[in-house]
Amino acid sequence: MSDVPLTAAVKAFLARPHGQFIQGNACISHAAPLIDIINPANEEVVAAVATASRDELNAAVAAAKGSFQSLWANFNPYARGVILNKLADLIEQNGEEIAQLDTLCSGKSINLSRLFEVQQSAVFLRYFAGWTTKISGQTLQPSFPSMAGEQYSAFTRREPVGVVAAIVPWNFPLMIGIWKLGAALACGCSVVIKPSEFTPLTMLRLAELAKEAGLPDGVLNVINGGGDTGRQLIEHPDVAKVSFTGSVATGKKVNMTAAADLTRCTLELGGKNTAALLQDADIDRAVAGLLQTGYIHQGQVCAAPERVYVHASRLDELTGKLGAALAAAPVGSPLDERVVFGPLSNKPQFDKVCHYLQVAGSESRILSGGEVIDRPGYFVQPTIVRAASATEVLMQEETFGPVLSFMSYDEDDELLALINNTPYGLGTSLWTNNLSAAMRMIPQVESGTVWVNMHTMVDPAVPFGGVKHSGIGREFGSSFIDEYTEVKSVIMAY
Ligand code: NDP
Repeated sequence: MSDVPLTAAVKAFLARPHGQFIQGNACISHAAPLIDIINPANEEVVAAVATASRDELNAAVAAAKGSFQSLWANFNPYARGVILNKLADLIEQNGEEIAQLDTLCSGKSINLSRLFEVQQSAVFLRYFAGWTTKISGQTLQPSFPSMAGEQYSAFTRREPVGVVAAIVPWNFPLMIGIWKLGAALACGCSVVIKPSEFTPLTMLRLAELAKEAGLPDGVLNVINGGGDTGRQLIEHPDVAKVSFTGSVATGKKVNMTAAADLTRCTLELGGKNTAALLQDADIDRAVAGLLQTGYIHQGQVCAAPERVYVHASRLDELTGKLGAALAAAPVGSPLDERVVFGPLSNKPQFDKVCHYLQVAGSESRILSGGEVIDRPGYFVQPTIVRAASATEVLMQEETFGPVLSFMSYDEDDELLALINNTPYGLGTSLWTNNLSAAMRMIPQVESGTVWVNMHTMVDPAVPFGGVKHSGIGREFGSSFIDEYTEVKSVIMAY
């Protein structure tokens, strides 16, 4: 097995100093504290990024506000779409550089980096580009009394909200960033984005490509730092909207910070997503689906299934076949195209998953995997856990790792209560060919998305978001327009 060689562009990018991207320029403050970017596959430092100072944060918001007011809010809609499409082209043209930078920071397999961070980023951007010319209001007829023959008409305008603070996690740092900035820019908002401190490089490269695509200076700005930098950004009085993706715990803090100044806020948060196999489920199909969605990127996917309810008559068949498939999948360097399982993305995440493996091990519930892999980097085995109760830790808490917990049920009418027995509600999948059973269950499942015979897949045309503690608001579809525009009503007498 061997790694793909790093391209010359990647080596050159890594060798550069990294800081912020403000008003169309890279800003490097040499006095600023540096954050080391660690390759999770070998724990080596691949680059360092300077933390944004308070002055740089203020400059980024000022650049976004200035470009919004003077230019971008009233920019020709078709021309906005042309720029977003051009940016999608540039992402693809520079795809191998972006994919390798992502794999070096996040440990995602190079195949997945190419598929999601490059191809899907371009797909989502082109979707948002198509909307720039289709954002519209309504024409309405008021019912006011007419005293002297006057008539009335009303219409609504969709106006961009202003400066958007986008805060994104480390699991899909570019694609999730594009979900936010593509939507914001399509609506005429300007953006200050804060990547995770573990994965800032691809967003800095994207900002350069956006400039090359013709995006006016100041419309997209990137600032780096940890959670405190994110908090300071949200608190800035010129931020009109916060779009956050991350954990439930941080999301609650973000919501409180935003609410203190009545800043509008959408939250895409974590969960404890369920796959529920009805008695008739096609087990081979479910095994392939769970492999593809539960263990992809080592389970570090917000919508990934983490708890699986299976009819008692099918549990052993499912876990046996899944265990065999996991054992056959190669583990190793994520830069090796043949590898399926790479490392967890960073040390805190590794520690968190190790904790959950200990919990599972102490209760003798591990059916497959369960060990840390003895090699440099943050590697653990993909794991299958057998749960005895729906209330135990591994059936309730998000591990965000390659740890799926399986529990059996006996009667179909138990299943809905089991699915809904969680404070979260991001995604649920039902595995059955009984269309009638699925259609009757769907309205009762407390979840932002319900998949049938599939899981996790998101599409730009289909709204995505959580209920209960998994979030507030929706991305994609046409729903994003509500999130990034304000409705202005105009009423006229004539
Ligand atoms: P975190 O909540 O730890 O961090 C998310 C982002 O918020 C990071 O950029 C982080 O910075 C920043 N941040 C941390 N504290 C604050 C604060 N007080 N104010 C403002 N920003 C702050 O999440 P992770 O990065 O660990 O991502 C994993 C989580 O994200 C999982 O729970 C997963 O389920 C969820 N997720 C949800 C998705 C969805 O669409 N629903 C999609 C993907 C992930 P830094 O990293 O530098 O500390």
